[in-house]
Amino acid sequence: MQIIKKIDGLRSIVREWRRAGLTIGLVPTMGYLHEGHKSLIERAVRENDKVVVSDFVNPTQFAPNEDFESYPRDIDADARLCEGAGASLIFNPEPDEMYDNALTFVDMRKLTEVLCGKTRPIHFSGVCTVVSKLFNIVTPDRAYFGQKDAQQLCVIRKMVKDLNFGIEIVGCPIIRESDGLAKSSRNTYLNPSERQAALCLSRSLEIGKRLLADGEKNIGVIIAAIAAEIEKEPLAKIDYVEIADWNTLEPLETARAPLLCAIAVYIGKTRLIDNFIVE
Ligand code: AMP
Repeated sequence: MQIIKKIDGLRSIVREWRRAGLTIGLVPTMGYLHEGHKSLIERAVRENDKVVVSDFVNPTQFAPNEDFESYPRDIDADARLCEGAGASLIFNPEPDEMYDNALTFVDMRKLTEVLCGKTRPIHFSGVCTVVSKLFNIVTPDRAYFGQKDAQQLCVIRKMVKDLNFGIEIVGCPIIRESDGLAKSSRNTYLNPSERQAALCLSRSLEIGKRLLADGEKNIGVIIAAIAAEIEKEPLAKIDYVEIADWNTLEPLETARAPLLCAIAVYIGKTRLIDNFIVE
């Protein structure tokens, strides 16, 4: 698997692909790849001639008290996964290559101020900035994002529309462990009892989903039932449980599609997110 570290190097490869009339898919990641990432890469491989996987732990989306330093990294294992999934190359720049004393950042209002934005106020500016840079460097036809990070998917779709990137954003379903836990690079932080406790996220969402399917319209009732299930777990601490309009991310009072039910929960020191969408 070819691993490109420099922007200029990647640009010249992309130029060749463009000259040959090939289509390009981009899968932005922070590495430590798992089956969730793999599902995005495989879809990109099916739908494009060439696929770039960016593998970059982006410092600007972490606050100083967050886990930038300790975020897991394993470029050799990532290269093997990308090879198996059929990617064309990995773009794995150093932070200085991406941010050479940069003074320009991409900010978005409203959509970034709710849900995860409440406790992570700088996060989405970092995400929008790095994704914009990747779009400019790779010039993909399509870019692939997981529904696992539903707010991120919503924010990126809006950014692409607002800034006229002309790139198709493809949302991909959440890949889970066999017991229901959404796959995440951060699951490696969990010790065995925390790993068990983390099942309260998917379990609580199933309860919410069932209430909706049974016709419950009162959002307060659904949120309370989800929160009650999480609160049964002594190692869990709720950051938020919210149900919002899936396009605007504004909170709903009465259930109606399209809706996003999203939760963020600390299991010990590890903050995990999960969600479901009713289209
Ligand atoms: P990350 O490396 O965590 O920044 O994730 C890179 C991309 O993979 C994002 O678009 C995520 O939403 C997506 N992703 C991460 N975990 C999963 C999962 N379990 N299922 C589907 N997509 C995922």
